[in-house]
Amino acid sequence: MLDLETILQDFLILDQSVNGRRLVYLDNAATTQKPLAVMLTSRHYYEAVNANIHRGTHKLARTATEAFEKARQTVATHLNAASADEVVFTSGTTAGINLVSSSLARSGRISPGDEVLISALEHHSNIVPWQMLCQQTGANLKIIPCHEDGTLDREAFRGLLASGRVKILALTWISNAFGTVNPVVEMTHAAHHAGALVLIDAAQAIAHLPTDVQAIGADFLVFSGHKLYSTTGSGVLWGRESLLQELPPWQGGGEMISEVTFEKTTYNDPPFKFEAGTPNIEGAIALGAAIDYVNDIGLPAIHEHEMTLIRRAAEVLGDIPGIRFYGPADRSGSLSFNIEGAHHFDLGTLMDQMGVAVRTGHHCCQPLMSRFGITGTVRASFALYNTQADVDALADVTRKAVDMLR
Ligand code: PMP
Repeated sequence: MLDLETILQDFLILDQSVNGRRLVYLDNAATTQKPLAVMLTSRHYYEAVNANIHRGTHKLARTATEAFEKARQTVATHLNAASADEVVFTSGTTAGINLVSSSLARSGRISPGDEVLISALEHHSNIVPWQMLCQQTGANLKIIPCHEDGTLDREAFRGLLASGRVKILALTWISNAFGTVNPVVEMTHAAHHAGALVLIDAAQAIAHLPTDVQAIGADFLVFSGHKLYSTTGSGVLWGRESLLQELPPWQGGGEMISEVTFEKTTYNDPPFKFEAGTPNIEGAIALGAAIDYVNDIGLPAIHEHEMTLIRRAAEVLGDIPGIRFYGPADRSGSLSFNIEGAHHFDLGTLMDQMGVAVRTGHHCCQPLMSRFGITGTVRASFALYNTQADVDALADVTRKAVDMLR
């Protein structure tokens, strides 16, 4: 059981009203709110530490560098990475995927006719960069289809791997649109068996499940700090060290070099090879604080709490006539639905007027919406600070909004 009374004191933003009602924040899949510990870490950084890292000899530069590298170690430990050198700081999930796809496109590993495998559940961030790679290399994009319940078709997956041409599988762990939890260990194993690399998009999973990159066995894993109770503009690419050594850099600039002449540049070792320019120093340090915060509470306890809320939400909303839920019953993080006779956008607008923040629309998953013949859904997404009262408010305002629209 989480101590919600204490936890809520850490999230000052939740103590406000919207349109005269207590704010109920259920848009956590888009971004999470930040605990005081994270905000104080950012503030302390700018009040007492701020300096550029790695090259400075002065005190502030040394302190900032130490804090930045300590955050890298915190991330590595949290992910059970073999070494902190496998942790590349990025600006977020999108940047991490673009880094890997751009680097792979120039690596010589992908030839015309090769295949890139993604799933029907992917966020645009895990579709478009691969389309760009295909344009550059002549590879073909293949899609693992999903069933009506929003789970992936594993038989079709095995069939797609059988082509023997798949060079990389890029797969979301938890679907941001439907909450489907993909069996990443099993799918990674199968993809490796077929000779493919594997990238896991952990943008959603990172706040709900303990992440052990060695147990998953993939080659790359990406996430954003802002979905793990930290600030926007920071994120992580974890990559297998041998691959980070082998792959060419993404962006060129300061920090990623070993030596530069006008004729030739040699590159720094990973992770620095992939961190051109001044990084989001404060963001990385804040991410370290967010990871410490989450681990003090414990991800298993957080997950259990969220699962109780999400199951309860499906139960109390379930008897609204004409409601359809998307995703399987054991969904995690997000609960997506439509209600006959009430457009998702209108529902979301009315719910906001009654103080409940949900997301409506395609959730950056237009191909998935097309697959289900819809333009979008209402999505309620949960975090560690949500309560039973939030679920009750969700059910109450959804019913009221439906009554107004019908
Ligand atoms: N993948 C998934 C599954 C996501 O949920 C998101 C964010 N909604 C992204 C990728 C992109 O993350 P960001 O915008 O933080 O780069």
